[in-house]
Amino acid sequence: MQIKTKILKSNKRNIIIASELLKKNKIVGIPTETVYGLGGRADNDNTIKKIFNIKNRPFNTPLILHYKNSECALNDIFYDERAKELAKEFWPGPLTLVSKIKNKNISKLATANLNTVAVRVPSNKSIKELLMQLDFPIAAPSANRYGKLSPTSAEDVYDELKNKIPLILDGGISTVGVESTIIDLSNKKVVILRHGCISSADIEKVLNCSIKKISDVKILKSPGLAINHYQPDKPVRINAKKQRTNEGWLGFGKIQKEFVKPSLSLSKKRCLKEAAKNLYKMLRLLDRNEIIGIAVQKIPKKGIGIAINERLFKAAKKK
Ligand code: AMP
Ligand code: MG
Repeated sequence: MQIKTKILKSNKRNIIIASELLKKNKIVGIPTETVYGLGGRADNDNTIKKIFNIKNRPFNTPLILHYKNSECALNDIFYDERAKELAKEFWPGPLTLVSKIKNKNISKLATANLNTVAVRVPSNKSIKELLMQLDFPIAAPSANRYGKLSPTSAEDVYDELKNKIPLILDGGISTVGVESTIIDLSNKKVVILRHGCISSADIEKVLNCSIKKISDVKILKSPGLAINHYQPDKPVRINAKKQRTNEGWLGFGKIQKEFVKPSLSLSKKRCLKEAAKNLYKMLRLLDRNEIIGIAVQKIPKKGIGIAINERLFKAAKKK
């Protein structure tokens, strides 16, 4: 049967509609503060299978589970003081914790059959209100085709997945704009698996210990991280100084006269938070032009700039 995707404004009535769909094992496009998610109930194998199929995502890349509050999230994992402290400091918010799984009702497909699970408590009002209607966590990867740019608006989700899901809740533009920071707490050493708005320095300050980068750890612990990702259709060239003929330009700071259209600035005032919020939206806009590729100016590698650079590096990887 052909599905026709509806976009509904995220208000009380439509959140109930979304919650009823989720209870019935349907998949919904959901706003979060990081990027839009493709959500389904985390305790049902068939639902999770649908998420992977809709995205064309390999089954060995586990999903993040979203909870209404810290208590519910911590209840589903084996946790220690470190998790408690990070939860207290950063939840609700754009932080994902990986730890050994405790709840046996979570679909094994959602965790790619690992003995660990990734959990987070989002701060976005719409998904919070939606979770309040449910007695299960929502498993949600980003609502885009696998490997492509993440969506930061309901329209982006529609462009990516139209007529593959019944409903997209429109909660406006995602305020952070890049995916959550992922911290692995399943071992003695704390490892940052993905950079995000919350930096490793922020985590170190709370835990009062140094944390490792995934590249410092011998075995690749987090499937799904070492591949092409976040890619527009056009090739991306990073750390560019000049625009080549027929290239689109994505700058940081005021754009000088020598740059021709299409050209956009991630942040005219060189604010990294604003740049993160604009990153996927502007890559999408440039990607729509008749250009040979997108050149991106160097972005400072500090604060959320580290997360931006991580995404751009993968976006620029040859297919
Ligand atoms: P996303 O790709 O945004 O859906 O984020 C999910 C990512 O979280 C996966 O690609 C993994 O890198 C990471 N992740 C999720 N669950 C686990 C887990 N159990 N162990 C390690 N990493 C995980
Ligand atoms: Mg994703």
